[in-house]
Amino acid sequence: MTKDDLLRLLLAAADDLGCEFDHTEVARWPAGTVPLFETMGLLRASSGGLLAPCPSCDGGHVEPVVRSVTTDRTRFFITCPEDLRVEVTAEMCRGWEIHSNGLANSIADALELTSRPKAIVPDRLWRLGRIPWKGRTRAVILARRMRDTDASSIAAHIGAGGRAIVLVPHQQPDDRIWPEHVPAVVALSSIASVEDSRLAIDGVALMEAVYEAEAVAESRSLLPVDPEIKKQVVRQQVKAEIKGHLEDDVLVAAYLEHGSGDKAAEALTKQLGRTVSRDRVYRAVKRARAAGEFEVPEDSPSVARTVASQPRDRAKKVSKYRN
Ligand SMILES: [Zn+2]
Repeated sequence: MTKDDLLRLLLAAADDLGCEFDHTEVARWPAGTVPLFETMGLLRASSGGLLAPCPSCDGGHVEPVVRSVTTDRTRFFITCPEDLRVEVTAEMCRGWEIHSNGLANSIADALELTSRPKAIVPDRLWRLGRIPWKGRTRAVILARRMRDTDASSIAAHIGAGGRAIVLVPHQQPDDRIWPEHVPAVVALSSIASVEDSRLAIDGVALMEAVYEAEAVAESRSLLPVDPEIKKQVVRQQVKAEIKGHLEDDVLVAAYLEHGSGDKAAEALTKQLGRTVSRDRVYRAVKRARAAGEFEVPEDSPSVARTVASQPRDRAKKVSKYRN
């Protein structure tokens, strides 16, 4: 097991509630890795009550430790179903847990952020700071345990903006937890490593992961996730519709409002500053009627007149006249 393997193990554990590593577990890690990860800020001595794995039987059970204090020394014991009372060493009683604030600090250092992480939701969500991004900056957030059932209430603290880059230790959350825009979510386990006893983050891999995450989110939502880009795209679409091909909806709405093709064309021409022909209005109305999208109001005389001028209606009228 390399240091980077261990780092991935710790990051995966950071997405679990109360994940502890006991003596048996850390004993399998390469020598010196516990102090290393302690220095890096990722691990700390467990704050829970003393527990120790049983060294006596094959049961692999972990039990609460009972201290026996005598004048010259303290001894530690656990109970075992097979051997009843088993003495354990002080070292065996030590457990280790993920130090989440320490993790937030190490990430901020690795990203060379000027600000210190600020916990928004204790132990779950941190605002790490801002990183430069294409001439602007983007907020970097750390969120952990985003697969828990309360993930959406944690995600709500990020706000609606889709520009934040959300780092998670390992587990990708469900898209549906985000209040509005799906932010770029990047798993630290895929971009972090241990370099010179420090946590290192591959900047290029981070950028690529952000682009990739955004491309995926965009393909799902049809419109870009960045609200700024989204606004621009919507504006461009509206412009294109008004300038190039006026949507039938607009033409039909004007027709219904003004009661005749002539008046609608005149109003639209004035409104848009360019000529909209009466025929264009009629064609749109015809398409809308064929699609059954609207009923021509019976009580509007001007509309009735226009409708009567349509070939089919005229034919009907003629036949009616004949009878
Ligand atoms: Zn035992």
